[in-house]
Amino acid sequence: MRKTRMELAKGTRRLSLFDDLWTKQDGRCAICGEAIPRGRFDVPHATIWKKTRPTFDHIRPRAKGGGDAPANVQLAHARCNRRKGDSWKPNG
Ligand SMILES: [Zn+2]
Repeated sequence: MRKTRMELAKGTRRLSLFDDLWTKQDGRCAICGEAIPRGRFDVPHATIWKKTRPTFDHIRPRAKGGGDAPANVQLAHARCNRRKGDSWKPNG
């Protein structure tokens, strides 16, 4: 069977943490559950991109002892990540 370009790329390149999380979360924000644009040109405006671009969010904040281990990191919109930092409470 002929291999597609994607399959060949998978064999030669290791998945980055970003790609790994992206696949796990199905391209969705871990905080609000909405789809995250993958690139600047998935959205019509740079302003929207700034608010919705994917960011790494620490599940357990560094201030509370969370580290940079892949298990403690998830993808979230920039706006959701910021909002969580301001007011999100784990038991709220
Ligand atoms: Zn979000």
